[in-house]
Amino acid sequence: MPLRTPPAVEHRPLVGVPRFIEISAEQRLGRVCIEPDCGATAGLGPAGHVYTETCAGSAPLGWAVVACPTHAPEESTR
Ligand SMILES: [Zn+2]
Repeated sequence: MPLRTPPAVEHRPLVGVPRFIEISAEQRLGRVCIEPDCGATAGLGPAGHVYTETCAGSAPLGWAVVACPTHAPEESTR
């Protein structure tokens, strides 16, 4: 039993299935590519939303996130 669980959030991309990832505040605010090991800050486009847990009993908060061209969910967005 781990002492601590990473603060993963649910990411729902524009296409594909939801997944749980760890993101930084910058990623959550749409300033950095959502891919955990990317770090790109240029050429970013929409990449769905992440949902952060709040207090028990509260609805999760949704945040619009972005991805660089390499990690964009659709090439059609160019
Ligand atoms: Zn990226």
